[in-house]
Amino acid sequence: MRMSKFWSRTAIEANPYVPGEQPYEVDIVKLNTNENPYPPSPKALEAMKQMVNSDLRKYPTPTVNSLKNVIADRESVNYEQVFVGNGSDEVLAFAFQTFFEPNEAIKFPDITYSFYPVYAKLYKIPYQEVPLQEDFTIDVEGMKRSTGGVIFPNPNAPTGIALPIESIEEILQGNSNNVVIIDEAYVEFGAESAVQLVDYYPNLLITKTLSKSHALAGIRVGYAIGHVKLIEGIERVKNSFNSYTMDRISIKGAEAALRDEAYYANVLDQVVKTRSWVKESLKELGFLVLNSNANFVFVQPVGIEASVLYRMMKKEGIYLRYFNKPNLDSYIRITIGTNEEMEELVRKVERVL
Ligand code: PMP
Repeated sequence: MRMSKFWSRTAIEANPYVPGEQPYEVDIVKLNTNENPYPPSPKALEAMKQMVNSDLRKYPTPTVNSLKNVIADRESVNYEQVFVGNGSDEVLAFAFQTFFEPNEAIKFPDITYSFYPVYAKLYKIPYQEVPLQEDFTIDVEGMKRSTGGVIFPNPNAPTGIALPIESIEEILQGNSNNVVIIDEAYVEFGAESAVQLVDYYPNLLITKTLSKSHALAGIRVGYAIGHVKLIEGIERVKNSFNSYTMDRISIKGAEAALRDEAYYANVLDQVVKTRSWVKESLKELGFLVLNSNANFVFVQPVGIEASVLYRMMKKEGIYLRYFNKPNLDSYIRITIGTNEEMEELVRKVERVL
């Protein structure tokens, strides 16, 4: 038998996202995918172990009530304003399908998180990329008056630069008939969250993740906060796809992690302190270092090409993120690791300059 066609048009035309390298070696310094260098809360680990030893025979609760309640508490919103998913990438995929239309162009910045154009193409949503301003900040004026909606991260990625709340309100007011998604994957590292605005702006959806601030990229938990009508819509889409997107281990781990604020306050504080040190050290080497509010720094090396530095550091066992794209190829994004890891990086960079 011969198949004349294996794939649907969607699969043929898909333009998959290329994630950062995830090497298996354990003795490398991994500064390429913005993971937290510290372990998750011991309470979260204990809660997951207990789940492994008890209830995995059963399905999880499809509505994920218990985790939604913990998130609602933490974010000071109602339970009905919370959606949870398998990492914020999945939450964003559902949000694209729920709020954006195939014939109405959405706007996002250029440069930004490169998953947005991937989803837009997959769901056949046209898009307009709004160039950043010369100082790498998002062009607030340019993000207004979209036809189909807006999405951007705050802080932006991979620049790390955050927008103040006043600018976010301007974008919300300038798109009053469309949904504005703010991707707050990195907000805990030093930007102001827009969650306080959800009761004033029914067009605002905020996504967050436990992957970065809570050191739990491995269990895949993300969530969204917004007006009840927005959450109702996104639940409809999720339940039309798979009503059990969250597993029992992740649910328990996420609940315990979100309750352990004291532990994470310490972790965040340490990452922010290390970031200041890295920024100053790389500036002393002559690098251009953008002002980051995230757990990474976006730098332009001087005296060596970004691609060469990336390759040399990889040989030395340090993974950095290099984007081989025309407007990004003179920059490198460096995740903030432990003090020891960052000292090793700076030492090795100094040696190759
Ligand atoms: N948004 C941004 C801006 C990111 O950089 C990432 C991490 N690659 C995500 C969302 C997705 O994170 P996760 O799926 O782990 O929650």
